[in-house]
Amino acid sequence: MKYEKISLAYGYNDLEPYIDAETVETHYSKHLQTYVDNLNKLLEDYKSYTCGKTMEEILKDVNNIPDSIRQGVINNGGGVVNHNFYFSILTPNGGGKPKGILMNHIEEELGGFEKMKELVSNTAVGKFGSGWSWLVLNEYGDLEVMATSNQDTPISYGKIPLLTIDVWEHAYYLKYKNLRAEYVKNIWNLFNWDIIENIYEKYRVK
Ligand code: MN
Repeated sequence: MKYEKISLAYGYNDLEPYIDAETVETHYSKHLQTYVDNLNKLLEDYKSYTCGKTMEEILKDVNNIPDSIRQGVINNGGGVVNHNFYFSILTPNGGGKPKGILMNHIEEELGGFEKMKELVSNTAVGKFGSGWSWLVLNEYGDLEVMATSNQDTPISYGKIPLLTIDVWEHAYYLKYKNLRAEYVKNIWNLFNWDIIENIYEKYRVK
């Protein structure tokens, strides 16, 4: 299998002023591309293992990845699926709140939209080093906020990603420098709740 980056549904400058054009271009066409290239190179001699499998399917079962490439696949495959997901849930016309059943469950399970936003934001700001903050649907069918380190993905822990904030410095440093909290505050203007709600509707069990 050849793994690829998603096509962006917006231009590099369309996420301005919240995420600047240079950051989107570098992040997507350089950082993400490097994960894609390294992943495909690593898997060149493992065609029978990857045959027919999405990277999400592979990362759902990390114990089944051949020992010799396991950590490389976790790092680079995680880099591909995490970034593809991140770029897919952002939109220039984003922000606001979910409207349907997801909103009800955010209220019931996480104490409301503002509380959820605070939990995800605090997790993002407080993540030491490089990683990600997530809103996920967990293995019990509940909403959960979590962090992952490096390019680890919640998929490997049996969760389904609904929303994420990339807090590697490359995601914000050109514009925000050391002010991670400002980037975290502003990215809420870009989330595409229609897409996030569609994912929730597809996988929810209650
Ligand atoms: Mn990144």
